[in-house]
Amino acid sequence: MGDLPIELDVLAIFAHPDDAELSVAGTLLKLKSLGYHTGVCDMTRGEMGTRGTTEIRAKESLEAARIMNLDARLNLGQPDGHVWPTEEARTALVRLIRSHRPKVLLTTHWNDPHPDHANTCQIAREAARLSTMARYDEESEQNAVRMPAIMHSLFSRRVVPSFIIDVSDFVDEKMRAIRAHASQFYKPESSEPITRISDVGFLDQIELRMRYFGSLIGVKAGEPFYVREALNVDDPVALLSRPMNIYS
Ligand SMILES: [Zn+2]
Repeated sequence: MGDLPIELDVLAIFAHPDDAELSVAGTLLKLKSLGYHTGVCDMTRGEMGTRGTTEIRAKESLEAARIMNLDARLNLGQPDGHVWPTEEARTALVRLIRSHRPKVLLTTHWNDPHPDHANTCQIAREAARLSTMARYDEESEQNAVRMPAIMHSLFSRRVVPSFIIDVSDFVDEKMRAIRAHASQFYKPESSEPITRISDVGFLDQIELRMRYFGSLIGVKAGEPFYVREALNVDDPVALLSRPMNIYS
């Protein structure tokens, strides 16, 4: 994580400092193991969180980044609870995309019930498109880039995944990366208020969801994604002869 912007193959853009861990850490770990450069951009520092402080959360994010083997962990410093697709937010993200030149973005789905998540998705989609237009934000003197593809992490059973990534080998590391956000999740000795995500059952639900999506493709754990554009398949035999589950 040096001074010069590193080129990233994959950039995950999520609203709060633990969202990428909860949603796509298995995929990020897998991509890193395949040799890709991976990064996470958090839109906010999570200052609206019921538990923890921004200082504690920043430290926890860096520890989680270390566990996820990220090449970069970035933060746009947008106001937590007030993430909007403003000109300022779009331009900040366009600059970041042009600096790191990711080929693929991972982000939330536009129907996410948390407005910060839904707006993060909208900002990511708009910034991806705007970053290709040479005349947009000319004053930054950055070059336009080829538009990155966008994969939306799914939370809802009502959206059918475009594909599910087999993350069977990365469940333990994903759960460790989530637990690095120690102020947010279950800790018996904590005297902070109990929240939905700090309840004792929450992390079990996260793991069980991974197991469920894995079962849909006949493996031990999976993370589901939706891609809005039609997929361009080169070799349908290679694609369709991978393990699947006809009862999915
Ligand atoms: Zn969030």
